[in-house]
Amino acid sequence: MIPSDPKKVTKICFDRIDIPDQLKLSVARENGAYKFLPTVLEKFDADQIIDEVKTSGLRGRGGAGFPTGLKWSFVPRNTGKPTYLLCNADEGEPGTFKDRDIMRFDPHLLIEGMIMAGFALGVHDAYIYIRGEFLHEANVLNEAIAEAYAANLLGDKILGTDYSMHLTVHRGAGAYICGEETALIESIEGKPGRPRFKPPFPAIEGFYRCPTVVNNVETLSTIPAILEHGGAWHAAIGKPNNTGMKIFSVSGHVNRPGNYEVPMGTTMRTLIEEHCGGLQHGTVPKVIIPGGSSTPWILAEHYDVPLTYDDLAKAGSMLGSGAVIVMDETADVVAVTRRLAHFYAHESCGQCTPCREGTGWIERVITRVENGQGCENDLQVLNDASVHMAGRTICALADGAAAPVLSLLKHFPDEVRSRLKEKSS
Ligand code: SF4
Repeated sequence: MIPSDPKKVTKICFDRIDIPDQLKLSVARENGAYKFLPTVLEKFDADQIIDEVKTSGLRGRGGAGFPTGLKWSFVPRNTGKPTYLLCNADEGEPGTFKDRDIMRFDPHLLIEGMIMAGFALGVHDAYIYIRGEFLHEANVLNEAIAEAYAANLLGDKILGTDYSMHLTVHRGAGAYICGEETALIESIEGKPGRPRFKPPFPAIEGFYRCPTVVNNVETLSTIPAILEHGGAWHAAIGKPNNTGMKIFSVSGHVNRPGNYEVPMGTTMRTLIEEHCGGLQHGTVPKVIIPGGSSTPWILAEHYDVPLTYDDLAKAGSMLGSGAVIVMDETADVVAVTRRLAHFYAHESCGQCTPCREGTGWIERVITRVENGQGCENDLQVLNDASVHMAGRTICALADGAAAPVLSLLKHFPDEVRSRLKEKSS
């Protein structure tokens, strides 16, 4: 059970994760699932819930870090159109694997969070958009949803109240860009997953041009604890403006890679040294990608940075989705950049010329640099292509594609140059 004293909280989304047979509704309920749902449905109203979520300071855990309560408050009411809630379970950002654990080990937590969010937003039809590769997780969710329907936790007149909500799992086909909320909406409407121009934002015109909220799995899974213990309780965990717990997916050259839920504000050093057992080689990382592959790299000088949206922004990067990729002194940073360049070139949806052409161009140039066929001018070409791509496109994929290249050129120009000399000689 999650303690009511915020100082004693060690987990929120992973609180029940180690309980055997947790997937079964009966076991989940014995351990607190849906315990507070009747109170929410009977005693809370929409404004109260949105106010609690605003007070909690919860910021979207999918990458952008936008305040969740504020996002919900943008949804217009009484428009005569239905409002939709879409859970973004695409989790395609390289390095990120936290939402998958919530879905496969505690699906009822997500379902409960969606019922509470749906109630606050006046939603009667909600969807979980899950990436195609997550077949096991989709099956787990569908089984959990079937049990929830059978127990009248979903469907018509939930638990005998006047509130009804239906929940459907929609599998994508594995395109990274469908994690972008408007591409997700296009995809779930049955069209190719290509981002839309904004505005209008989904809160006004989203799924089938109706008001729509898109929230990440971890974000929605935090809602039951916030409503049970109060927004102020959540705001007392972590740091001001960066409240609550956060799951970090740590991969790379650490001794114990995995998912770790820690209070916001924990330092990078603590996460890596205490939770992940330190580095495989050396004492401090050569490079850390702190928030998924699309976030700028940080170096050893930022090893003590607190893991918050604000502190990582001050360090020149982003918290993103909380996917921490650690590279020790053995890392070949040119090869890493080439691999990421290939990923972004493959995943560009092709609508915007700077992204479509730029990602392919970057991949070709960094590949020849890696193969010892590059020349000094290639550094300028890589820089120009990246700078002219970022911020000039419909969505942020182009910025994400530019980030590793610009990080490589900023932090390791000599390593790139020595590569040219070394392999051409
Ligand atoms: Fe598609 Fe790239 Fe444009 Fe995004 S930036 S819409 S991925 S072409």
